[in-house]
Amino acid sequence: MLRRLPDAVVNRIAAGEVVERPAAVLKELVENAVDAGAGRIDCALRAGGAAWISVDDDGAGIARDDLGLALERHATSKLADDDLVDIRTLGFRGEALPSVGAVSRLTITSRAEGAADAWRIAVDNGRIGAPEPAARARGTRVEAAGLFRAVPARLKFLKSARAEYLAAADILKRLAMARPGVAFSLEHDGRRAWASPTASDPLARLADVLGAEFAANSVAVALEAEGLCLTGHAGLPTWHRGTAQAQYLFVNGRPVRDRLLQGAVRAGYEELVPRGRFPVLALFLELPPDRVDVNVHPAKTEIRFREAGKVRSLIVSALRQALAEEGHRAAAPAMAPLMGRFRPGGGGGFGMGAAAAPPLALAERAAEWQGPLDPALPPSAPPPAPEAPEAAGLPLGAARAQLHDTYILAQTGNGVVLVDQHAAHERLVLERMRRALAAGPPPRQALLLPEVVELDEAGAGRLAAKAEELAELGLMLERFGPEAVLVRETPAALGETDVKGLVRDLADDLAEHGLALALKERLEDVAATMACHGSVRAGRRLGAAEMDALLREMEATPRSGQCNHGRPTWVELKLADIERLFGRR
Ligand code: ADP
Ligand code: MG
Repeated sequence: MLRRLPDAVVNRIAAGEVVERPAAVLKELVENAVDAGAGRIDCALRAGGAAWISVDDDGAGIARDDLGLALERHATSKLADDDLVDIRTLGFRGEALPSVGAVSRLTITSRAEGAADAWRIAVDNGRIGAPEPAARARGTRVEAAGLFRAVPARLKFLKSARAEYLAAADILKRLAMARPGVAFSLEHDGRRAWASPTASDPLARLADVLGAEFAANSVAVALEAEGLCLTGHAGLPTWHRGTAQAQYLFVNGRPVRDRLLQGAVRAGYEELVPRGRFPVLALFLELPPDRVDVNVHPAKTEIRFREAGKVRSLIVSALRQALAEEGHRAAAPAMAPLMGRFRPGGGGGFGMGAAAAPPLALAERAAEWQGPLDPALPPSAPPPAPEAPEAAGLPLGAARAQLHDTYILAQTGNGVVLVDQHAAHERLVLERMRRALAAGPPPRQALLLPEVVELDEAGAGRLAAKAEELAELGLMLERFGPEAVLVRETPAALGETDVKGLVRDLADDLAEHGLALALKERLEDVAATMACHGSVRAGRRLGAAEMDALLREMEATPRSGQCNHGRPTWVELKLADIERLFGRR
């Protein structure tokens, strides 16, 4: 027997997609409040949200006659016309309220802008009541009680109240980061859990979410090109975490998790952070709504860009630019915590005075540099003339000595600089190889036997269509029947590589965003490894001219302040700092 499902059942099925846990309910309700133009949004949860979720706003409200409609599937006030092209609101599918109403006891109390009275409507697991008069100021309060109580199958999948609460708080904070003009608060089990007042400076809101240290350890990002605009703050490469959880990415004010964007961030920080570590950042991409499709998934956290390549290169350039400006002085702030280790006389003696560990990964380096330098070791190179006049104008100064065959000691206009020669050289080699990579096609090697890689028809077609672009990266392939490609040559730099794996990754990249990312990333990876092996080892003696040449090249190279693993390549001690060490000031 074929039958049409009753609305209540349809809604309950669909609810599984839109609101699979309390955090998703909170997200939908807060998005509605934002779309209603609220200036403040107050949220409360009980037992992680499963027992109770409420969101109260001072936005435009819902008129009495619209209350019933708002609970109907696919009823929305947000799509002016019917082509899903020009989407400027967070919501647009008209699915959230009916979905929440299908799996909880939902109450909406609202007073529309300009209306004399407030009205309330209730839904009990799909059964909609009639609007009743109520009292409240302009705005809307939506409450959902007993979430999933009527859907035991779903209830079983909820985690502990604590875990659900944390997920909900994370979603709220993500939304709040993109709306500094709105005040937010969050209560859990009757206690104030988080709040952030209206902020005129986006960085103030970011600090409310990410902590005050974020402001001190990040650089502003701003770049605009071809109608795309990227703003935000990027954490210093030395301030990284073990997961990408603290990378907050937004497209037109909507928090997203997107592989293309995450890959672009990785590329922007390439070799600035250690592998497997993730810098903290919040980036906001704005572009005309018709150049992005947000209607990919009911939760709307996935997106498709019409010009994936442009988006990627905007992000990579914006990050590289912001970090390069910082790169040259990245090591400098490290001196502040380091200074704590130089306690003059008494106490624990030289190098024993450190109290709190510095927050940065630089702590490791600081620890290595605690001991007094051995005065007995003669400098390996004859020091240049003491009054080298060029020292004043050069940021990294004139080389004076090599210490322990590992560090270069240089004199600047107003201090001394200590350079880790291996770390610095490695960086320079990598940057040289990168420039070469950017300048032209890398050398290729022919495979002894051309390799046939089986794919699906769409994948083979996509790769064949990009054959020319791939050839520029050193990969020569051609279509081989409907469901395979034939690879004849690979980039020499990859050495003996897993051709099948590479080609399949490329096919995935092309399917997902039309770009051959995997190949570029592998080439850059190889460049990094080769740079590490091809660099001056610690322990090699350098002549005066070699040392000065290294310093000059560092000054001319972007990102030379950090080695390929995110550690500083040099540290500076100002004369004033030295004077303080000796109690002269
Ligand atoms: P969507 O947000 O996709 O339009 P929803 O089911 O979330 O769908 O909401 C349905 C409609 O109810 C919205 O289009 C809006 O008109 C109204 N609405 C919901 N929440 C609010 C609110 N907090 N303030 C004002 N109007 C609201
Ligand atoms: Mg909505």
